[in-house]
Amino acid sequence: MDPQTNDKQSGNQNKVEAAVTAALFLYDPAKRAYKSLSTGRYLTAQEVRKVVDAVIDSYQAEFVAISARLQAGELSLAEWQMQMAQAVKGLHVATAVAANGGFNNMSQADYGFVGSQVKRQYQFLQGFADDIVSGKQLVQSGSLLNRTKLYAQAARGTYEQTARRRERLAGSTEEKRNLGASDSCQTCLDEAAKSWQPIGTLRAIGDSLCLANCRCEFSYK
Ligand SMILES: [Zn+2]
Repeated sequence: MDPQTNDKQSGNQNKVEAAVTAALFLYDPAKRAYKSLSTGRYLTAQEVRKVVDAVIDSYQAEFVAISARLQAGELSLAEWQMQMAQAVKGLHVATAVAANGGFNNMSQADYGFVGSQVKRQYQFLQGFADDIVSGKQLVQSGSLLNRTKLYAQAARGTYEQTARRRERLAGSTEEKRNLGASDSCQTCLDEAAKSWQPIGTLRAIGDSLCLANCRCEFSYK
């Protein structure tokens, strides 16, 4: 896939960047942070993640609507898979581009990394479709919609993995997991208790018992 050309044409392109810049924020590559044009203040990593989380939650409905159309018999399985893939690409590319500071701050290597993240989601989606064909995943089931939501929620992992790569390339050497939920799962509690560790060694967001629903984030230094 080629996110650079396709997503610039897509009406579904970079919602996160749009949300951030609509509030008149500009990305400062030197600080790897968004700056308010009116006050000069930099958004904290937590503030940007809040925007990312809000966008993910709002676009989750779009994903659910696609699966509801499969349930209603309005889409064939192939059509469903194609629409899901498009939605996955739009949202995951958007969060990754936001993590890199917008389209203007994306290198070819950055696009390559985003592509690898999206490809991974396509593989999960293929497994989802295969389970529907085999009957392991029932179409007329609430679990179909719950499983669908994970493809939107997983964009948080794509955002965090992209930010992690950005920090590593910028010379950060350590990372620390900050719990995002008051009811964090045991994996996340254990990982957060390790405090500062060499960058890239803690479990990725999404790779815990809570899976794609993880609300943790990383700090770097
Ligand atoms: Zn967790």
